[in-house]
Amino acid sequence: LAKTFLVNRSTIVTAMNMLISDGLLDTAHGAGTYVSSNPWSLLIHRSVNWSHYVSTGSFRENLPSVQAINRYEATPGILRLGTGELSPDLFPRNYFQTAIEKVSRSVSSLGYAEPLGLLSLRKTLSSLLAKQDISASPSNILVTSGSLQALQLISVSILRAGATVFTESPSYLKSLQLFQSAGLHLKGIPLDKDGLEYWRISSSFFDFHRQTLLYTIPTNHNPTGITMSERRRHELIEFCNHLQLPIIEDDAYGSLYFEPNPPKPLKALDKNDAIIYLGTTSKSLAAGLRVGWLVAPEAIVQRLGDVKMQMDYGASSLSQLILTEIIESGNYTTYTKQLQQKLLQRRNMALTVLNEYFSDLGTWNIPKGGFYIWVTLRKRIPMEILFCKAIKKGILLNPGDMYDFNPNHSLRISYAYLNKQEFTKGIQELAILIRSLSKN
Ligand code: PMP
Repeated sequence: LAKTFLVNRSTIVTAMNMLISDGLLDTAHGAGTYVSSNPWSLLIHRSVNWSHYVSTGSFRENLPSVQAINRYEATPGILRLGTGELSPDLFPRNYFQTAIEKVSRSVSSLGYAEPLGLLSLRKTLSSLLAKQDISASPSNILVTSGSLQALQLISVSILRAGATVFTESPSYLKSLQLFQSAGLHLKGIPLDKDGLEYWRISSSFFDFHRQTLLYTIPTNHNPTGITMSERRRHELIEFCNHLQLPIIEDDAYGSLYFEPNPPKPLKALDKNDAIIYLGTTSKSLAAGLRVGWLVAPEAIVQRLGDVKMQMDYGASSLSQLILTEIIESGNYTTYTKQLQQKLLQRRNMALTVLNEYFSDLGTWNIPKGGFYIWVTLRKRIPMEILFCKAIKKGILLNPGDMYDFNPNHSLRISYAYLNKQEFTKGIQELAILIRSLSKN
């Protein structure tokens, strides 16, 4: 039954060379080529081709500009003009010192925390939330490793791939990336000065009737700085209740409203248990604590807590103990009040600088809290070139495109990180760069 195939000589030479390089054949001058005496050489000599692995897995790659920002942020002296971090000058060192000393004296062991997070912290958070008119018992609270993890837990534990998430357009970049990595379908909804234009959901809602959810950042929105008006909040909740559309309320910047009469969180208006609320200490205390919290109906909290145990065995017990102490001592509330005032001064400083150097180059909103001013350039210029040229000048930008579903010509400018001198220098240099690019 044997068949004969004619094979080109060079094919055989190539095949032999491959077997030699794989260690299955040995060759020596004068001795010819023979089967390797050490079949294990295959395992010993071959090295893993990691390039087959790095681009797989369920997570999408970050956009190149996001990867660049992540890398350059650590560069000493770089002016982080759009960063989402608080300035190290604002770090409450004394509050941490006191809390850490107290925790180290009282703690008797440092084991894994309960699946939903330390009960002591959940009780403390329950009282903190009550001050915002959010009623949540400890069993309605899950402590997470930052609110980004809460979003991830939601994406992979209670939603099916192919489910639709409506989000503001633009929105918090990492959430968009994470939703997409989980195979969720995103639909961007524009905002006006009062927040999300919820009525625009109607037209596409019924196309996505399977599993749907709305993700919103109603207070001090990232990246635009917009705060949803009281009226829009009530209308949104009514609208979503009518459609039975659950809401994820991301309140990362909620405690940083610095104008009088802060709006209530959506969750405080939620009579139907239709909202999953997310809080974090990352913007109002210290991002490195990696502690956030999620408020939801018990069944959802249990499900997410179960998945969290599979992911990381719970948020850091040490961070949870320190945070409990800082909140219980009253220092958290004192700090956030001081922070609001400092951010207000910084916002005013930033507006003065922008008015002086940028009024002919862009337009912007006046935020009532949080970190960000959304600057839209009057003239379209290539944003990737601006980003690269700015890096050469020692300025790290956060171009608006990263946050959006469609191309835009905006920049997220933050007043939370740089001091007056650095901010002014950054804006002056940026204005020069934009002028030179607008000429071309
Ligand atoms: N939500 C929003 C709107 C944010 O801006 C951020 C951080 N930039 C997060 C969530 C994630 O914060 P955390 O550090 O708590 O994971």
